Amino acid sequence: LMREVLETYKPHILSRRRRLIEDCVRDLRLNNDHIHIVEQEMRKAIDDGLGNASHATASVKCFPTYVRRLPNGKEQGKFLSLDLGGTNFRVIVMELTPDQEFLMDSKIYAIPLSIMRGTGEELFDHIASCLASFVKDREIGDEKLPLGFTFSFPCAQEGLAKARLVKWTKGFCCSGVEGEDVVRLLHESLRKRGDVDIEICAILNDTTGCLMSCAWHEPRCRVGLILGTGTNACYLEEIEDIHTIDQDDFKGQKHMLVNTEWGAFGDKGELDFIRTKWDRNVDDMSVNPGKQIFEKMISGMYMGELIRQVLVDLMKDDLIFFGAHRDKILERGSFFTRYASEIESDPVGDYTRAKACLVEMDIDPTSVTDEDCSSLRYVCEVVSRRASFMASAGITALLKKMDYKDVVIAIDGSLFRYHPHFKNVMQSRISQLMGIDYKFDLMLSEDGSGRGAALVAAVLKRGE
Ligand code: BGC
Ligand code: MG
Repeated sequence: LMREVLETYKPHILSRRRRLIEDCVRDLRLNNDHIHIVEQEMRKAIDDGLGNASHATASVKCFPTYVRRLPNGKEQGKFLSLDLGGTNFRVIVMELTPDQEFLMDSKIYAIPLSIMRGTGEELFDHIASCLASFVKDREIGDEKLPLGFTFSFPCAQEGLAKARLVKWTKGFCCSGVEGEDVVRLLHESLRKRGDVDIEICAILNDTTGCLMSCAWHEPRCRVGLILGTGTNACYLEEIEDIHTIDQDDFKGQKHMLVNTEWGAFGDKGELDFIRTKWDRNVDDMSVNPGKQIFEKMISGMYMGELIRQVLVDLMKDDLIFFGAHRDKILERGSFFTRYASEIESDPVGDYTRAKACLVEMDIDPTSVTDEDCSSLRYVCEVVSRRASFMASAGITALLKKMDYKDVVIAIDGSLFRYHPHFKNVMQSRISQLMGIDYKFDLMLSEDGSGRGAALVAAVLKRGE
């Protein structure tokens, strides 16, 4: 009889548990009003960043990049580029041919944690030594190739090849670099070696690289967006609206790319109205508490941990994974953002990939129910939807600021690339925010950090 009663009531009991879960995560769900406020506040923060007097205290710094011309597809030549900013460091050599081909060869070098958190000198010596061995291996050491350095951290630029690091992000914290000109530090490490003769002709952010790489064959491209380990956007601004540069230096020129550094949006409390206890937890445990608040609610370095923290709370109330092996999932950092992409890639009602992720977390898939898997997916969806809504609000703020009617947004980064629904959610949310008459395209940009650096160098060489 007991079993019969249970069977009869099971659907009811299940949906009650699900309701409790939905109730527990309700703070992670943004409604239209929230998104609208995020957009408005972002717009204000951007204007503050561009203002001469307001720049110093603005959360979104809107650094001028000194990149004033977009590629026209006619660039050519052979270039070196360096890409530092996420999980890896890369050295690239590429050749732009007259018939619009990109020939390239590159090598990835690991940046061990000891270097990410060591001294700046060790970091730049390491970069210089990777670069030296790369050009020697390929026997291009004597060609004196121009080099573009994609350095994906917030920098106050004073020229195309001069950039002071403002603050490390994404887990880096090498000493002695903040406040310094990164190009000078790399030059010094190269000079100390004395075995390579290389000229660093430009330093750029990965958002700039992303935009340039797309603009090379797509003239409507006006925004570059990164959704990866971190998040940030750059866009084409009118020089007369950038009040942090000396207008007299740019007479007769119209545009310049602006690196918004929007990851720091929220650092002045702008997002407190939607931050949850899990967001505060993720922030408290990071190497830069109180900084990069927008980034920590969106990007790949933090999303997995955020999901894990929610799951841990649900486990405390036995709402999920009851009776499963919980040791590993209780460990900080054990839930990778990649899992959310996997879990949300399963067809609805199928849990093949979800179960493979559970195995990686030492959870025996036979010890969890389908309901657990469905709840796991639900939590991932709530967190990733919020991230895509917030990125959409930011993009909308930029689009409304620009006077173009048809814009391509170049996007790169692991989160955007591998998440199965991020793009669709952004597409429909931005349409809704911009109104149906506005035309825009979200375009995956291929290897902006590598190609973009070569293009900035190439456009420079193009002269005119
Ligand atoms: C950095 C930006 C970068 C972004 C994406 C952020 O943490 O501050 O400079 O563009 O990550 O890589
Ligand atoms: Mg990158």
